[in-house]
Amino acid sequence: MTTLTINGFEVQVPEGSTILQAAGKLGITIPTFCHDPRLVPHGSCRICIVEVAGSKNLSAACSTPVYEGMVVYTESKSVVEVRKEILDLLLSNHPLDCLTCEKAGRCTLQDLCYRYDVKESFYGGAIKKFETDDSNPFYYSDQNKCILCGKCVYVCSQLQGTNAISFAERGFETHIATPFDKGLEHSTCVSCGNCVSVCPVGALMPKSKEKFRYWETRTVRTTCSYCGVGCQMDLLVKNNKVVGVDPAMGPSNEGLLCVKGKFAFNFINHPDRLKGPLIRKNGKLVESTWQEAYDVITEKINEVKKNHGPKAIAGFSSARVTNEENYLMMKFIRGIIGSNNVDHCARLCHASTVAGLATTLGSGAMTNPIRDVMKADAIFVTGSNTTEAHPVMATYIKRAVKEGKRLIVADPREIELSSYADVYLKIKPGTSVALSNGMLHVILEAGLEDQDYIMAYTEGYEELKELVKEYTPERVAQICGVKEEAIRRAARIYGEASRASIIYSMGITQHVNGTENVMSLSNLALVTGNLGIEGGGVNPLRGQNNVQGACDMGALPNVFSGYQQVTNPGVIDKFEAAWGCKLSDEVGLTVTEAIPAAERGDVRLLYIMGENPMVSDPDTKHVEKGLKKTFLIVQDIFLTETAALADVVLPAATFAEKDGTFTNTERRVQRIRKAVDSPGEAKADWLILMELMNQLGYGKIYNGPEEIFEEIRMLTPQYAGITYDRIREAGIPWPCPSEDHPGTPILHRGKPARGTGLLKPVKWIESMELGDEKYPYVLTTGRILYQYHTRTMSDKSEGIHQIAPQAYVEINPELAELKGIADGELIQVSSRRGAIIIKAKITDKVDEKVLFIPFHWANGANVLTNGETLDQYCKIPGLKVTGVKVEKIGS
Ligand code: SF4
Ligand code: SF4
Ligand code: SF4
Repeated sequence: MTTLTINGFEVQVPEGSTILQAAGKLGITIPTFCHDPRLVPHGSCRICIVEVAGSKNLSAACSTPVYEGMVVYTESKSVVEVRKEILDLLLSNHPLDCLTCEKAGRCTLQDLCYRYDVKESFYGGAIKKFETDDSNPFYYSDQNKCILCGKCVYVCSQLQGTNAISFAERGFETHIATPFDKGLEHSTCVSCGNCVSVCPVGALMPKSKEKFRYWETRTVRTTCSYCGVGCQMDLLVKNNKVVGVDPAMGPSNEGLLCVKGKFAFNFINHPDRLKGPLIRKNGKLVESTWQEAYDVITEKINEVKKNHGPKAIAGFSSARVTNEENYLMMKFIRGIIGSNNVDHCARLCHASTVAGLATTLGSGAMTNPIRDVMKADAIFVTGSNTTEAHPVMATYIKRAVKEGKRLIVADPREIELSSYADVYLKIKPGTSVALSNGMLHVILEAGLEDQDYIMAYTEGYEELKELVKEYTPERVAQICGVKEEAIRRAARIYGEASRASIIYSMGITQHVNGTENVMSLSNLALVTGNLGIEGGGVNPLRGQNNVQGACDMGALPNVFSGYQQVTNPGVIDKFEAAWGCKLSDEVGLTVTEAIPAAERGDVRLLYIMGENPMVSDPDTKHVEKGLKKTFLIVQDIFLTETAALADVVLPAATFAEKDGTFTNTERRVQRIRKAVDSPGEAKADWLILMELMNQLGYGKIYNGPEEIFEEIRMLTPQYAGITYDRIREAGIPWPCPSEDHPGTPILHRGKPARGTGLLKPVKWIESMELGDEKYPYVLTTGRILYQYHTRTMSDKSEGIHQIAPQAYVEINPELAELKGIADGELIQVSSRRGAIIIKAKITDKVDEKVLFIPFHWANGANVLTNGETLDQYCKIPGLKVTGVKVEKIGS
């Protein structure tokens, strides 16, 4: 430790600290423009200069290290004079339009001029030199206000990892070249707004739909409601409206956001929000009161239960609503209805993760925290378009690569991360098992396995070793359509690293052999001993904000909350005692079974909360038939494609209108907080469910989500030690068994949770979708940055809609030429399930045999996908491999 004195106060700080850090410890504020603790100090603004006793020159506090006995003055006469001079110079080049500037009240220049009594510049006023650039849909740049602190440039390059913004020109003409000034399509800018968030003046500002002054707003700390990264953010609220979003320093986002988190919040205030219940009368949805809607629902539930039994009712819970609401949905279906027919859209994304990792490791969740990837020596990203689907997670991967870590990417499409990779394997869709087996073959051949770990903590090694002998790099190269040498290199990079992390997502899971895909990745980690350590692990990135929580809460047909089996008599006894009702021990229907059951007439009533299967589920025609045949209740924030088919529609609250918790992909349980009231008569999902349960005779009253959470932790061992009070500041990753337990950032420390890691020999089998001459091409689907899931929320943002207004199919130039298809032309893509007309986007991101369609749009990709053939373990459909043909319209 080093002891020094600042303004007469003694302070001790770790060796190597800066004066700025030492002053911070004493609560002394040294002004800064360019400083950001996350960036390499660059000392360009000089406003942080301080006087160090014995030194002839003033020193920049942000970059000067302390030494023993140092004496510092932060507001001496000479310091203040120089600061005034700096401010004077800045003002000479800065418009004095504080009366109308949107940054007023939050401008560091304004604050410091006030602090040092600088009213105008000695050197005269500023001349307007630059036109405002408003070509980005989300923010504008007024370079007349730029003070050249450089924060935007360094945040974009060092943290966001995009390098889209830079200094341009020299001398008095120096300014920040804004990324869109050459046109939207030519910029690498991803509109994350992280540059906007750090700009200390009004030079980079969000385009706001609402007029507001910062001092008129209050901030509410919450969790992003888009992807599973779980970024922390502050909602800016004025007059019961969310008018802006600022990033917060959360454990998973470190003050960063992506375009959706930062800018796509218009859905909250959108005029199309559902504001009251609707009931179908004479074929039309008409407004009703809550009581009328509850009466219709309870009458129908009682009728179906009486005539067809509880198994004729199913409920879809939601990856978008809170843990408390998912818990209540499963309690409603299990405790009140009396069946286990509760599931949610994890069935379509990570059911195979839950099944695969629970089988091999004993816990079906991400093993390591998000930012831990920066500690890996090698990162294997497979089946995850991370920069688009989990943008903030991708910033850490890019940073790791910049620091010299090795990256392997396997994906049928060339994604942004491919260009960062040491080895990029453009594998054929559906060949991941072969690739993992091939990599294992090379690892074992080269003696790169961790024999000690294998002997101490795994079982099934000999069988696995025998199986992978068949997967020579030559054979695997044939299967995957990549070079043999690339497989060898990828295997060596992964096998030689002392810490290697596997990151995967739906490119692995959404297959009819999704569970085996997951198991084959688990084999790689176990054989190399990459579990239970920092920078290692098997890390599934969960897609939606609370898909992890929805699984944890037992919104699955085979388990209660905490993955407690519905077939276990002890578990049944526990829940029966707690809830005071009789429970079924028969595993219920999955999403992929409930819809066909509705079509057959076996499920007579379907209650869907916050899901939109008409867009997200495979084989839309069959989904529609099923939904139309059953009595359908939909609870949502907009009249979605699914809600439009409902018999009763219940208006729900957004994340900004309620309290509760989400669990992010790294198992961290985090708070969301009510910032505004819901429009009209819309209510929080938990309240609707509770009122309905009360109407059906279950008298339990919860006075708020915290009371539901208390019940959850009483019944769910992984959540037992988590309380609202403990997660007030930062979330806690489960398992957290007691209130004095800090939570578990890294799973399987010491040994795998199941005791020994199970090495499962899995064979590669070609998808039955392929090999048919009538449908010779492979369609694969996925997410894009500028939309989210079924677009219910994201498309309400004008900027998002402007950039990604419609569906398209990516098609290779060779295939386009063969078919005579031009870029932008409408073409027909058909599968065994149906046909769609869609815009062609010609790109060599995909190979000649592969097509890609983002699944976000209705009457799009999922008209074509197969909902019938399912993974044998978890019943996930094979959304990533569909046999299709492609034709020019009229040919
Ligand atoms: S919006 Fe994001 S990507 Fe674009 S310039 Fe700013 S920091 Fe860079
Ligand atoms: S635009 Fe803002 S953040 Fe960027 S250099 Fe100028 S003042 Fe600094
Ligand atoms: S990365 Fe995910 S959680 Fe973070 S702001 Fe973007 S959408 Fe929200």
